[in-house]
Amino acid sequence: MKISKSWFLIAFVFLLGLSQTHSAQNRTVLNQAQRITGDVFHIAATTPRGAQVYAVNRPNTRTLAAIDNGLSDLFALAAKNNYRRRLNYSDYTIYIARADRTQNSDRQYSPDIAVGAAQYAGTIYDKGGYIYAAGMVVSNEPCSFIIAEHTKNFERIAEVVRYEGEHLVLYHNDRRRYNQTADHNLGVEHPILQ
Ligand SMILES: [Zn+2]
Repeated sequence: MKISKSWFLIAFVFLLGLSQTHSAQNRTVLNQAQRITGDVFHIAATTPRGAQVYAVNRPNTRTLAAIDNGLSDLFALAAKNNYRRRLNYSDYTIYIARADRTQNSDRQYSPDIAVGAAQYAGTIYDKGGYIYAAGMVVSNEPCSFIIAEHTKNFERIAEVVRYEGEHLVLYHNDRRRYNQTADHNLGVEHPILQ
């Protein structure tokens, strides 16, 4: 069978266009993550199950496994709620930032990032123009969020991944519930999905 050359060329140009749009989107999100954290994410990695990771330092195997565990818990809960979209590991990009603190006010190990208070200004979350967060969604599309680097208690990474992922799963599957839960000022706490 003969495949027309022009057909092939059209398909090629189309796919090239798609992948450029995709990488331009990823570039925008990367810039946003770097602006929010003040970090530079030099290291790219992939978890064993296929989630994309960008980090300040090379993530160890326990960190990558914890990310997969958090996502698999999230996907199981999403399926239980009859959500079908964005339940692939490769749908998610996680930025691992330098921790701005490693202890919370109760002196528990709690690597968190400091982010501009914005919508939480003047609330109990506001620590003077910024808040400490365990994680933060950078972009709903593509699905991306920031967590802080951990050197122990890797199960906390799984929990933070699951919690940030909740916002993204809701955004893509249940916009009404997403709107009710996107702002923690409305009294919403994680876990949202049961
Ligand atoms: Zn949240």
